[in-house]
Amino acid sequence: MVKAEGVHKSFGAAHILKGIDLEVAPREVFCLIGPSGSGKSTFLRCINHLEKINAGRLSVDGELVGYREHKGKLYELRDKEVAARRRDIGMVFQRFNLFPHMTAIENVMEAPVQVKGESKANARERAATMLDRVGLADKAGNYPSQLSGGQQQRVAIARALAMEPKLMLFDEPTSALDPELVGDVLDVMKDLAADGMTMIVVTHEMGFAREVGDSLVFMDDGVVVESGHPREVLANPQHERTKSFLSKVL
Ligand code: ADP
Ligand code: MG
Repeated sequence: MVKAEGVHKSFGAAHILKGIDLEVAPREVFCLIGPSGSGKSTFLRCINHLEKINAGRLSVDGELVGYREHKGKLYELRDKEVAARRRDIGMVFQRFNLFPHMTAIENVMEAPVQVKGESKANARERAATMLDRVGLADKAGNYPSQLSGGQQQRVAIARALAMEPKLMLFDEPTSALDPELVGDVLDVMKDLAADGMTMIVVTHEMGFAREVGDSLVFMDDGVVVESGHPREVLANPQHERTKSFLSKVL
């Protein structure tokens, strides 16, 4: 579903991603860990067309990010084509970024109606299903300010799911939550994984990685230091940098 080969990304003189190689299979729960500043968010943003890579190859579902291939030649995607590709990728951030002036269900309906041109009736029906799926059927009429952080994050997940993405990117989705609210969000992600969603999850929740993850990659300073099955990497890290990081977060 995702393939990175020698992916580099710089911001001006700052070299952030220094040759990332990795593959995410369909239906895989792929966990990405690493110290702050190691390039995890930047990598997710590259996958989601929010940043352009400077070198290497990055593809999603067999298509190069940012390019269209035609008769063996590469053409840069036009804005409309980028938008079409991005519709297939759901992203959930640390901060929930819900529209404050819309109710939960209106937040979930917004993109299907505005971006896909779906009828409001259809979008409302599916939004209700999505809210039910994240355990918030009874909060459809609440505004974000009337929801806890964990509930807001679950609305954000429902909102991403409403676009029926083939890939979900989670960037530290529980880092901004009070500890007692983390479990509900992780449970929703667990359900999603059980349903076969392909997910890349940047997280410090090692319990989630161990229990739900199919792969774990430890990134540091813009490179993949170590990767493997989460239980293997967490129990038996091979590299000094991984050991030192895990000793701080476990
Ligand atoms: P992580 O998510 O692992 O904490 P990030 O990908 O957010 O790391 O950031 C990696 C580095 O890239 C940081 O040093 C950050 O300051 C830098 N960076 C990220 N985005 C930009 C940007 N738009 N312009 C300049 N530097 C950036
Ligand atoms: Mg980050």
